[in-house]
Amino acid sequence: MSPTEIPTPVKIASTIVSADIATVKPVTDKGKPSNDLVFVGKLPRKKECPGITYEIQPGQHIQEEPVFMTISNMEFPDGTIRPCQLFFQSATETHGSWVDLLARTYSRVWQEARIDFPAWTVKKLLQTTDARGGYYAADVGFVKSLGHHIGLILEKHCLSLGIKIREKIPENIQRILATKQIEAEKLGIKGTLCPKCSHKKVVRLDGCDTCLECGYSKCG
Ligand SMILES: [Zn+2]
Repeated sequence: MSPTEIPTPVKIASTIVSADIATVKPVTDKGKPSNDLVFVGKLPRKKECPGITYEIQPGQHIQEEPVFMTISNMEFPDGTIRPCQLFFQSATETHGSWVDLLARTYSRVWQEARIDFPAWTVKKLLQTTDARGGYYAADVGFVKSLGHHIGLILEKHCLSLGIKIREKIPENIQRILATKQIEAEKLGIKGTLCPKCSHKKVVRLDGCDTCLECGYSKCG
């Protein structure tokens, strides 16, 4: 079947003995086919999947013991290597129930295999906050919550596989930010919390607040 064909219903008269994954081109709101391939159905779990385990140290007020997060990858029908399973392990059960739910849900969604699913699931985690306050993590900087921390590591994992989660800052903006960074360092200006990316990288220069991390800017 060609990737542009939409499967039509077929009456099944005999017993199903095997199944395969169909690929279709999704149609965008404007009626044009999207470049993203969508796979219909859940991919079968492979017997062996290579994975990476990350040690996540939450803030002391969240949990003293580290959380170990394992992400396994597999090759999808379009030839890309993407995450397919997520596991958590920790010496305590403080966050056991919600991280277990997260792992089960994300594993299922990733195996559902829509090409934009890894990015979508990570973006949702990056939005999570904790009423008890965020903390500084040695590996990723300031985080708003344990969920945000997990999201940043997942993002790093996805980037290592070539999956882009957030828009890259254009080069001309990067140059402006680098100039502002040097200026801020000279003047000894300490960064404050960015409302967009949550890094403590917002500096006030020339009447504008600018985040040296993500480029967020507010003047006046
Ligand atoms: Zn920012």
